[in-house]
Amino acid sequence: MTKLKTIICTIGTRPEAIKMVPVIRALKTSNWARCVVVATAQHREMLDQMLGRFGIAVDYDLDLMQPNQSLSQLLARMLPKLEPIIEQERPAALIAQGDTATVFGSALAAFHAQVPFGHVEAGLRTHNLAHPFPEEGYRQMASRITHWHFAPTPQAAENLKSEGINPSRIFITGNTCIDTLFQTVAELPQQKTNATKTILLTAHRRENFGQPLADIFTAVLHILAQHPQVQVLYPVHPNPNVQELARHVLGQHERITLCEPLDYFDFVVAMQNAHIILTDSGGVQEEAPSLKKPVLVLRETTERPEALEAGASKLVGSNIAVITQEVNRLLEDEAHYRSMQIKQSPFGNGHAAVAISNALSADQ
Ligand code: UDP
Repeated sequence: MTKLKTIICTIGTRPEAIKMVPVIRALKTSNWARCVVVATAQHREMLDQMLGRFGIAVDYDLDLMQPNQSLSQLLARMLPKLEPIIEQERPAALIAQGDTATVFGSALAAFHAQVPFGHVEAGLRTHNLAHPFPEEGYRQMASRITHWHFAPTPQAAENLKSEGINPSRIFITGNTCIDTLFQTVAELPQQKTNATKTILLTAHRRENFGQPLADIFTAVLHILAQHPQVQVLYPVHPNPNVQELARHVLGQHERITLCEPLDYFDFVVAMQNAHIILTDSGGVQEEAPSLKKPVLVLRETTERPEALEAGASKLVGSNIAVITQEVNRLLEDEAHYRSMQIKQSPFGNGHAAVAISNALSADQ
């Protein structure tokens, strides 16, 4: 029997877990890989919730989350903890998804150990190091030391080629979040249509802290004042910058439900039940078009232009008038609403993880 190749998958946050679950499953069910899961636990609770829900066992837990730790402190603690794991496991590859400190730290630790790094969701760019910060910097730096670039879309692959990356190292796979979404939707009961129109809101990005978030919340209040049949559901991120303002500005309104971050399955149900989604999240921009839900993106830039070009999303930033106007249009103009329900998502068909596993195995 041929020896299985060890592949280390590192995960730090909830969205990384959502996007790595199908890759871990594909590797674990393959006939060539031994998959070792390392949780940096850059975020603790939301990561555990996700891994528990999908039944993913963690082989090494670095338990790195600490209150108010800076990015430098986080990375300074991560690298010496990853090094002995890599030494002990002697992996054929180390894989991580996205653009957090966990991803950059993993790529750097692999580079130091001369282990090839596989970057899931490679090639997303705004070309603005401040938007989003620190993600744009982390993903650009990771690309410099990546062996397998798993680009979710042709556009992401083009971004990488324009930076001089060898096209033979780029694999267009689709986005693994669509794999997770499709598997989850298949397990959920059919949702009933609701007479009350719900706007699902998620807003927690660092760039929106302070005035932009206050403006977004003001726009939500304006929309509700103009539309008595509309309600808002807002799972509030645990970050205190978001919690305090959300409770203060939105907490008393009878048609606004503020809740804890939802379990992923419940969040998928909330997306299915939503009429419109207002979000500054990256993953939600990718998931919503597959569920035929129009998305208004609460950011100045996006690294997901594919949804904009396909007509499924619109950038509205944090401008009160623009947000109000675009939501009003979606609520009042049915043809416009339908035009944002696109036939096929530009982010993949649900088979990204197998494509990633196949590309890795072909190179062993
Ligand atoms: N999500 C969730 N519960 C929530 C809000 C979001 O499970 O209450 C999921 C969502 O479906 C998406 C991911 O979390 O897959 C997005 O995470 P986040 O917005 O934190 O990060 P980003 O995608 O911007 O990196």
